Amino acid sequence: MTQPSEVDLVIVGAGMVGLTLAALLADSGLKIRVLESREIEPQQALAWELSQRATGYDPRVSALTVASQQVLSVAGVWEQIQQMRLMPYRAMDVWDGEGTGQIRFDCTELHEPCLGHIVENRVTQAALTQQIAEQKNVEFSTGVEIVEMTEADADSQRLLTLNNGEQCRARCVVAADGALSSTRRLAGIGMWEWDYGHHAIVTTVTTEECNRSTCWQRFTDDGPLAFLPLPEGLSSIVWSTSPDHAKALMALDETEFCQALEQAFESRLGKVLHADQRFVFPLRQRHARQYVKAGFAAIGDAAHTIHPLAGQGVNLGLMDAAALAETVLDGLEAGVQWNTAFHLRRFQRSRQSENLQMAATMEGFKQLFNSTEPLARLLRNSGMNLLNRFSPVKNHLVQQAMGLSGNLPRLARRPIKD
Ligand SMILES: Cc1cc2nc3c(=O)[nH]c(=O)nc-3n(C[C@H](O)[C@H](O)[C@H](O)COP(=O)(O)OP(=O)(O)OC[C@H]3O[C@@H](n4cnc5c(N)ncnc54)[C@H](O)[C@@H]3O)c2cc1C
Repeated sequence: MTQPSEVDLVIVGAGMVGLTLAALLADSGLKIRVLESREIEPQQALAWELSQRATGYDPRVSALTVASQQVLSVAGVWEQIQQMRLMPYRAMDVWDGEGTGQIRFDCTELHEPCLGHIVENRVTQAALTQQIAEQKNVEFSTGVEIVEMTEADADSQRLLTLNNGEQCRARCVVAADGALSSTRRLAGIGMWEWDYGHHAIVTTVTTEECNRSTCWQRFTDDGPLAFLPLPEGLSSIVWSTSPDHAKALMALDETEFCQALEQAFESRLGKVLHADQRFVFPLRQRHARQYVKAGFAAIGDAAHTIHPLAGQGVNLGLMDAAALAETVLDGLEAGVQWNTAFHLRRFQRSRQSENLQMAATMEGFKQLFNSTEPLARLLRNSGMNLLNRFSPVKNHLVQQAMGLSGNLPRLARRPIKD
């Protein structure tokens, strides 16, 4: 029988989060292996993305914060993303379906050029994939999965068996394989999990009026409806609603869907003229009971998923990647054994409370906007209007949402200008 191959770090999942971790550790001297279950050609990632342009925009987009932009800059891909396709957003308009509460955030109030960027997930992923494919110390294996993982040995190492029969010994395994992470399950880590009672419909739409570089969000009785600006005046929508309503909306033809969307959005951008193919995602809140064990860590959606209403999911994942990279790099610099549960708990401590706080905030928002209690609705809407007029609190909130303040990993902090 052939000897198992030996690597320092196995990252399972070549999504935005796993790839970012690999890119942040590319110069660490560690021998890294990325395992991805999809069959892809990493060296052709940018060419593939360009070939997809003719099909239009990726229906999956993310509102990336300034902190995420910083992490992707350190990872060496932000310039590439800028050259490919992105859309800065300068304002955010949020209002409730009754029309009595509203709040507007504008980058000029913060003396910032924008509040963040809307980037197609496909673009971020292509830039990261190509970057990783060019790294000498990173081996990219596609079309493979782990079928068995041993408990950590005395050196906190784990032996992996892949679906092609190959064996690999790793000093640390990182689960970055998304919300249904089988790697996290193999590590024996359970989840707190509950259904939001919402399904999200996503697609790209053309409206009569241009998007004004603004993110729009209307809280309807069934759930939040977001319009996110794309280049060429288009918008990417995320319509979270009850499963029954989502099913009915998915069954409409394009003209009927555009009419329903325009009505739900109060025609804020005039008529909805066209909608691309629609996709629907059930929304569940999940949180891993622990993020680390000896020789193991979970990051991104493999560790937590939240409601997309504040567009924070992948931003939290990128902060996980930055915090874990920092923990590993600090361990290497200090000459300590960086793959022990004791050392990896530094990463867990820095991220778990931040991620739980965001999950609790999203839950609070959802409850507040779902409430049918007249008093709760009155207080909520008056509160929004009051907040809109009270700049210091409003600016503090938006700075947190942009990733300009709060407990950020070092790699996510913007360099201080002279
Ligand atoms: C409707 C919707 C809208 C959203 N909008 C936003 C937004 O505006 N802003 C934001 O920040 N977030 C948003 N999110 C959340 C965001 O999309 C996710 O948080 C993000 O994609 C998670 O990235 P990830 O790399 O952790 O996981 P994934 O993107 O799921 O990547 C996991 C990777 O692992 C691979 N994989 C899976 N299983 C295995 C296996 N067993 N072995 C090997 N590889 C495997 C997969 O093929 C994939 O490549 C939204 C989510 C939804 C549903």
